[in-house]
Amino acid sequence: MSQSIQVGRSDYDRVMMPNYAPVQMIPVRGEGSRLWDQQGREYVDLAGGIAVNALGHAHPQLVEALTAQAGLLWHVSNILTNEPALRLAHKLAAATFADKVFFANSGAEANEAAFKLARRWAHNTHGADKHEIIACTNSFHGRTLFTVSVGGQPKYSQGFGPALQGITHVPYNDVDALRAAVSSRTCAVVIEPIQGEGGVIPADPAYLQAARELCDAHQALLVFDEVQSGMGRTGKLYAYMHGNVVPDILTTAKSLGGGFPIAAMLATETVASHLEVGTHGSTYGGNPLGCAVAERVLDIVNTPEVLAGVAEREQQLREGLMALATRYGVFTSVRGKGLLLGAVLSEAWQGRAKDIQATAERHGLLVLQAGPNVMRIAPSLVIPQADISEALARLDQALAELVG
Ligand SMILES: *Cc1c(COP(=O)(O)O)cnc(C)c1O
Repeated sequence: MSQSIQVGRSDYDRVMMPNYAPVQMIPVRGEGSRLWDQQGREYVDLAGGIAVNALGHAHPQLVEALTAQAGLLWHVSNILTNEPALRLAHKLAAATFADKVFFANSGAEANEAAFKLARRWAHNTHGADKHEIIACTNSFHGRTLFTVSVGGQPKYSQGFGPALQGITHVPYNDVDALRAAVSSRTCAVVIEPIQGEGGVIPADPAYLQAARELCDAHQALLVFDEVQSGMGRTGKLYAYMHGNVVPDILTTAKSLGGGFPIAAMLATETVASHLEVGTHGSTYGGNPLGCAVAERVLDIVNTPEVLAGVAEREQQLREGLMALATRYGVFTSVRGKGLLLGAVLSEAWQGRAKDIQATAERHGLLVLQAGPNVMRIAPSLVIPQADISEALARLDQALAELVG
C-alpha cells in the first residue's frame, strides 16, 4: 500500500502549477448527477466535468466495462492493436459518415491529428501551397500550440513565441466572410457545430451548408470539431446529424469516454488514406481501457431512448431556466441544443457568470460558464428529472441571494 497523506485545497497552491483556479471544495465521490466533497456536502452536478460525464458519475455499466477490461489488458501501445479499439472503431464508423478512425487521448490531440491530416492530404494531393486553415473567431479547439493557433481566442495563443502560419480567422456564422476567405490555398475549414467555450452558440444550418459548398468548390476539407457537441450531447449522436451537411473529418472526445480520457478523429476513406504508416502517432491512443469504456458509452448513448431523453431534459431545463429568467431578470435567453445549454446574461448582469457559478456552488449546485456573460450547463445525458428539478430549485436560491 502506498502511504496516504491528508490533503486539502491549500495543497493545491503548494504543489500544483498555477494555471487553474479550482474552487475550494474538493469532490471525493460521485454517483449519477450528484457529487460529495471532503466534508460530505452534496452537490447536483450540471457541469458534468465540462460536458464529459455523459452518463453521470460511477455509472454501473461503465464501472463494469472498465473493471472487466482492467483485469484483462491495460496497454499494449500501437505496435500491437487490441480488440476494444477495433470494436469501437467499427461502431463509430457504422454510426457516422466516417470510414476510418484514429484514436487519441484528448480533444486537443484529436484536433491536432485532424489539422495535420488536412495539411498532409492537401500537400499530397495539391502541393505545398494548399495549407491554409480557415477557422472561426472565438472558436476553441484545445490548448496545444497548433490548436490554440487554429482556435479563435488570441488570449490562449499569444505570448508563446512565433505563431503558426497559414491560419485565418473569420466571424462565426458569417457566410460572406467565409466566402471571402476561402481560396485555392485553403486546405480546411474548421467549425464547431456549436461553439461551446465561445458562448454556446449554434451554427446556422445555412452557414454549415455554405461552408460545405465553399469547401467543395475550392477542393478543401470541412472539419467539424464535435469534441463538445458530440456523443449524444445535442440529442443526436453528433450535432451534424441534425442537418444535411456532412464533414470530411470530425473530432470527438469529452463525452466519448464518459470520464475516461479518450478521443477520436473520424474521416472518410479518401482523406484517411493520407495518414500513412509513420505520419502520425500516439503511445496511448486507442488504449484498451479507454476504448472498452467508450464502446460501452456508445452502446448506451446511441439508442433512441437515451437520445430522446436528452430532448426531454432539454425541455425541462429550458422551461425552468426561462422561469428563473422572468423571476430575476438575470438571463435573457437560453441557447444551445440538447444538454449543451447557455443561459445568456442580461445587460445588468454582464460579466457576472463567475459570480453565479460561485454562488450556485455554495447552494450545492455545479454549473459552468462560457465566457463572462453565459452560464453554461452540460449535465449527464441521463440525469434524473428529479435532479433537474432540484438543480433548478438550488439555482433559484442562488439567484435570490445574488439579486438580494
Ligand atoms: C474541450 C474542447 C477541446 C479540447 O479538448 P481537450 O480534451 O481539453 O484537449 C477542443 N475542442 C472543443 C470544441 C472543446 O470543447
